[in-house]
Amino acid sequence: MSGFAVRGWCPDAWRPMAAGDGLLVRVKPRLARLTQRQLHGLCEVSLAHGNGLIDLTNRGNLQLRGVSDAAWPLLIERLIALDLVDVDPDMEQRRTFLVAPDWRVGDDTHRITGDLLARLDAVPALPGKIGFVIDAGPEPLLRDAPGDFRIERSGEGALILRLDGRTAGTELSFGDEASALVRLARWFVESGGLTAGRAARHDAALPDWAPAQLPPAAGGAPLRPGPHALGAVLGVAFGQLDARQLLGGGMDNLSPVRVTPWRMLLIEGAAPVDLALITDPADPLLRADACVGAPACPQATVETRTLAARLAPLVTGRLHVSGCAKGCACARVADVVVTGREGLLDLAFAARAGGTPAHAAHTPDALLSLFGTT
Ligand code: SF4
Repeated sequence: MSGFAVRGWCPDAWRPMAAGDGLLVRVKPRLARLTQRQLHGLCEVSLAHGNGLIDLTNRGNLQLRGVSDAAWPLLIERLIALDLVDVDPDMEQRRTFLVAPDWRVGDDTHRITGDLLARLDAVPALPGKIGFVIDAGPEPLLRDAPGDFRIERSGEGALILRLDGRTAGTELSFGDEASALVRLARWFVESGGLTAGRAARHDAALPDWAPAQLPPAAGGAPLRPGPHALGAVLGVAFGQLDARQLLGGGMDNLSPVRVTPWRMLLIEGAAPVDLALITDPADPLLRADACVGAPACPQATVETRTLAARLAPLVTGRLHVSGCAKGCACARVADVVVTGREGLLDLAFAARAGGTPAHAAHTPDALLSLFGTT
């Protein structure tokens, strides 16, 4: 793998990260939206230069898998031509925004994101894990989503600027929101925030112009598979799309698509076509998290997603199958947790990956038998 691939780095298209199945190339669609042409093109380049698998990330981005070092330069060229990657790596890195995916043209989320994109060169250089959240709809959707500098609604409906980790934000005037975001990001850098690493860990006193005045509103219900005012929401099992399936499932008839941070796609307008995605909000796969596991991750010694798909209907509550104790797919406690260890599986309850097992060192079949399979 190439020398620029650094494990632990938050990757983007210009700085891909090496995984067991090749480079991971992250794509950050503007306003979390892919036109039909972009989605079609993305599937084509994924098949031509990667392994055809595309991950949805918890920041509303996409990640092409299985890209070789040799294929990467051509892939980048094609992603730039699709207007999915900025030609300037520095600008690409600064464009780390998470946007409420249910925006409408001309609403506050759309307007503020456009303003921020227009002043990208004023955004300070920040590590890839640090980003902006623009969640300005009438009902907040991204309260639990990661992001350091946040535009949200207060309980009274005002737009506020809030540093992640602080309980309240500053009321903003119409039109000032993007410049306030940039100003807060600059303050973060100047006040030593990069040493803390993330806004939630930065305990410096807020600047006088950004007092913590108004608490954010409670979060609204997250999107679920089914009809939506903008079209339809479809779930994506384990957050992984298969480009071959998408292209074979009537992609040419598909409307533009919004990427969400919840392993779901919001299809604009047209009724969903046969894309082998989740349409039933009660589908047990929506309650299951599983990382890529072996062989895609070199730290995994077990396969994860086939097992998770078999276990999910047998489990009550949330299921987490993790290739190792790192627990990439889910940082929270889950009701049932299976963790790979030296080629076998540990089973724990109400735990995180690697939690103390109630049953240790099982094969997949032995583990499944604990849930009543024969
Ligand atoms: S949890 Fe472990 S096995 Fe799974 S993706 Fe993360 S590092 Fe790899």
